[in-house]
Amino acid sequence: SVRVRFAPSPTGPLHIGGARSALFNWLLARRYGGQFLVRIEDTDLERSSRESEENILNALRWLGIDWDEGIAVGGPNGPYRQTERLEKYRQVARQLLEQGHAYHCYCTEEELAAEREALMAKGELPRYTGRCRNLCAEDKARLEAAGRKPVLRFKVPADRIITIDDHVRGHVEFESNGIGDFIIMKSDNIPTYNFAVVVDDHDMNITHVVRAEEHLSNTPRQILLYDALGWQKPEFAHISLILGKDRAKMSKRHGATSIEQYQKLGYLPEALVNFLALLGWSPGGEEEILTLEEIKRQFSLDRVAKNPAVFDIDKLNWLNGHYIRQCSIERLTKLAIPYLQEAGYLEQEVSPEKFAWLEKLVALTQPYLSYMAEITSHVEPFFREQVAPVDEEARQILAGEQVPLVMNTAIELISAAEELTEESIKPLLKAVGKQTGLKGKFVFMPLRVALIGKPHGPELHQIIAVLGKERTIARLKAVAN
Ligand code: GLU
Repeated sequence: SVRVRFAPSPTGPLHIGGARSALFNWLLARRYGGQFLVRIEDTDLERSSRESEENILNALRWLGIDWDEGIAVGGPNGPYRQTERLEKYRQVARQLLEQGHAYHCYCTEEELAAEREALMAKGELPRYTGRCRNLCAEDKARLEAAGRKPVLRFKVPADRIITIDDHVRGHVEFESNGIGDFIIMKSDNIPTYNFAVVVDDHDMNITHVVRAEEHLSNTPRQILLYDALGWQKPEFAHISLILGKDRAKMSKRHGATSIEQYQKLGYLPEALVNFLALLGWSPGGEEEILTLEEIKRQFSLDRVAKNPAVFDIDKLNWLNGHYIRQCSIERLTKLAIPYLQEAGYLEQEVSPEKFAWLEKLVALTQPYLSYMAEITSHVEPFFREQVAPVDEEARQILAGEQVPLVMNTAIELISAAEELTEESIKPLLKAVGKQTGLKGKFVFMPLRVALIGKPHGPELHQIIAVLGKERTIARLKAVAN
């Protein structure tokens, strides 16, 4: 059965690209009834942190991506953090050394740099040429006595063509002569990525390695290791880069890049997952709005595109807006509260009465939101003492000759009303039109400007219901005079 994994390096938060890799692996496991593992690749000791690890795992959880085996959940192939598996790598490294597939290299940074420069001066590719391959015991003893700590390098066989039948990229070939003997254990006895990943994927019985395209050039190294160890190779799928709309590699200047940032801006996980699935994968039909269930049923590597995926924030906003409009008002209100508190519109304690009022307020903004953080600007007029026309158009509307008549008629009718509910307000507004003899927009636009400063936006009956009788009348009076 299919066993796939997501193997993040905890050197920062979970980014869009990582989340997409995790999602594609997860979808494969779920589609084919396999297992999905999460493993932490923390061999870069300086850049790795537990904080990043937590951030990544929380972001996965928030997105609704769960795992069957791995970090935090355990399983039969643990531990699932590479720094806790060092003994395994050291053991395999010893095996490679004993079998003549690896050797100690004592070169210093300076020596390696000089070698690279000399190669480039001759017009050759800079690489390690295997200077330490044939050191004799005396040389080694001398270097060690001088305090040099060796790294362990893998002996890349000459004249080999390494082929990958990649599920996304198709048939790809590499020449072993282009690959220098690469480091598998650093001088501090910590494995490198290319080595640890092979040991782990083997130990964990991974059948398919699905990861970012940037790792394609690492794959021939990993294949050479599998071959040297006599291990069965997994299948590979390298998914394309994610580019910004300007076709440059996605980076901070394209906007938020981490999942956490989107969470904080009030994107919904179901929208983000839908969006991420479409970054490189496409369903058979035209439909772009797909629930996780639907994606799970349809997902396959055959429909993962070879060309780069373009990150289109407008599309994400459109999708998220769609999901916001599907949301229950109760859920949306709960999501809105932190933004309203942050803006100083709301105290920490929200009473049930206040919550009921907030539901009306949130319902009124629901058609307009792309993500929840936008709510503060939409509700701002409801938290002010007074409102003023926001622009020239709004000012012109209030300058209309009939405006005092409209205001006074509305004041009269609203004052006389027993209670104001959205339903009871609708006929009142009709009556204003009737009594003044004015057509729709000459009634509704000035009223809306008087109440929220803007001529366009939410339904008037909703606005009045949220403002309540007193504040509605006060705002109308302010304009009538
Ligand atoms: N730790 C690697 C990364 O974060 C994983 C690459 C792989 O999936 O093999 O990019």
